[in-house]
Amino acid sequence: MRFGYPAWMTLSPDDSLHRFQLERAGVRGAHVRLDAAWRELRTHGDYANALGEWLGQALAASALFASTIKFDGRLSVQLQDSGALKLLFAECTHDGHVRGIARWDGTAPIRLDANANLAITIENRVTQTRYQGIVPIEGSDLATAFERYFERSEQLPTRIVLAQSGDRCAGILLQQVAGEGGNDGARDADGWNRASHLLATLTQEELLTLSAEDLLLRLFHEDGVRLQPPQPLAFACSCSRERVGDMLRSLGRAECEETLAEQGSIQVDCEFCNRRYVFDAPDVAELFAAEPPTESEPTRH
Ligand SMILES: [Zn+2]
Repeated sequence: MRFGYPAWMTLSPDDSLHRFQLERAGVRGAHVRLDAAWRELRTHGDYANALGEWLGQALAASALFASTIKFDGRLSVQLQDSGALKLLFAECTHDGHVRGIARWDGTAPIRLDANANLAITIENRVTQTRYQGIVPIEGSDLATAFERYFERSEQLPTRIVLAQSGDRCAGILLQQVAGEGGNDGARDADGWNRASHLLATLTQEELLTLSAEDLLLRLFHEDGVRLQPPQPLAFACSCSRERVGDMLRSLGRAECEETLAEQGSIQVDCEFCNRRYVFDAPDVAELFAAEPPTESEPTRH
């Protein structure tokens, strides 16, 4: 029996993404599991509720999505809701850095309203391009909304299962391989349907507890599982003093100087990682050095 991966890979790290192929079924996919990254992320908010479940699932989905495209940049998943959900954002970069945040209007019950949307944004650092797609969410089923996004944007049949519980979030994605020709000799016509049905038997418990290897072999052992080496994932924030400076510049000189006058310095806390950035009067002057002074600038009088 050939499993298609070397034995050393059975000791995979807990925070990792595995791409795989089901060669006989003509299916490709990815499996993601986040432990330490998720534990670190959830210290930055109150996520012991449905909000945490959505955020964990969105985080797993962002890593699965990032695995399906070749890019140099960041891919984010955002839930938009006109009700009590103020913010739900999860992001994965091409090099496996994840971060996320969710905020709720504390007085309202935690449920998505009927008009909730899912927005997926891909920012490519090299080409300086930004693409965004939006799909509606029916009920609170994120996985179905993600499937619909893929079918609409890439015309590719896609199946996704997501899970979050306690210290872990996990997800798996299957996608029918597009195109004809090539070495399809060993592929059978019903492969996609069979793989989809097998995936539907996967329980949340299995997704959360089995390793990628055990899960894939248990479900798809007859379909020629070929597992690629794991890509490590880690919590990391992309905030920087330079980006905070850009944000302050976009607020404008007058507003920055007003805050300086009131508080002596401008403090900006990153909500993703709790890092604090402080800008004092000389820092703010330097930010706006290229611009003419405002009316309230003392040197004008
Ligand atoms: Zn940060």
